[in-house]
Amino acid sequence: MQIVNSAKELRQTLDRLRLSAKKIGFVPTMGFLHEGHLSLVERCKKENDVVVVSIFVNPTQFNVSSDLENYPKDLDNDCEILERSGTDYLFLPSVSEMYNIDSSGKTVTDIKISCGEVNSVFEGAFRSGHFDGVALVVTKLFNIVGECRTYFGLKDYQQVYLISKLIQELFLPIEMVKCPTVRQESGLALSSRNARLTDKELVLANEIYFAMKEGKRMIESGITETKKVIELIKNHILKTEEIKLEYVSIVKEDTLVVPELLTDKVRILIAGWLGNVRLIDNLEVNCNSELKDELFEHHLSDSSIISERKIKV
Ligand code: AMP
Repeated sequence: MQIVNSAKELRQTLDRLRLSAKKIGFVPTMGFLHEGHLSLVERCKKENDVVVVSIFVNPTQFNVSSDLENYPKDLDNDCEILERSGTDYLFLPSVSEMYNIDSSGKTVTDIKISCGEVNSVFEGAFRSGHFDGVALVVTKLFNIVGECRTYFGLKDYQQVYLISKLIQELFLPIEMVKCPTVRQESGLALSSRNARLTDKELVLANEIYFAMKEGKRMIESGITETKKVIELIKNHILKTEEIKLEYVSIVKEDTLVVPELLTDKVRILIAGWLGNVRLIDNLEVNCNSELKDELFEHHLSDSSIISERKIKV
């Protein structure tokens, strides 16, 4: 695996590879890699000739400075994981490679991307400026990597929604592959931030998944009133007083609009705090009972349950 710190060098290298008809696959991450990230890299390896992974903790998408400062890091371990997974290039830029920096060390972003409506709902509403920062850094990364197939996790559903729009509306030469959420056997979605949970919190955090599963069961049993199901999920979570809910909602997959009645493919979205760790998760539900069998298979692949395996080497 070659580590590249320079945007120009990566661009030139990948341009050369494209000239010899190599298909480039790209997985953007913020590091502290776990099985969720690895599932993206493995799929990328299967479907492309060249695997590029980036690790960059993007300052402009953090709205709380302590979250940025405490974001976990273990570059040596990340490199070993990527090396073993067959990654060809690790793009590891410094902040000053990606942004202009002023004399006080702050990032200067004269050019901004404004994501509009996405900023005012769910993650956007609770994390001011987050999606503008995500869109900006992802656009920069896509411009550096160039034409490619890129892999994103459905774990961050609103992010997937936003990046699809970004690619489509800005005519970027990028094909996006949406990858299933990888969970611990107990249900908790893997996340780099889980490393900051205590043992007790790691157990309590599963309640987020259990609550969504209960909501899904209720929808599949024929309840169509969105409000009712949201209330049920909220009440489930409220039983665990350590979890401070930010939002629970159910949205149409293709618009993020909350329907009055559940009649189509929807996502249960949820976010909350456990101690000083913010957790988000989502679950797909197909309300159309005629499609239940098809859905069941899809759901299994959409939410791979894996046994917890330390990938620390
Ligand atoms: P991050 O390093 O958190 O920015 O995540 C990098 C990519 O990995 C994003 O596309 C995430 O959606 C994806 N990802 C994070 N956690 C998981 C997970 N548990 N399962 C699948 N993909 C994930």
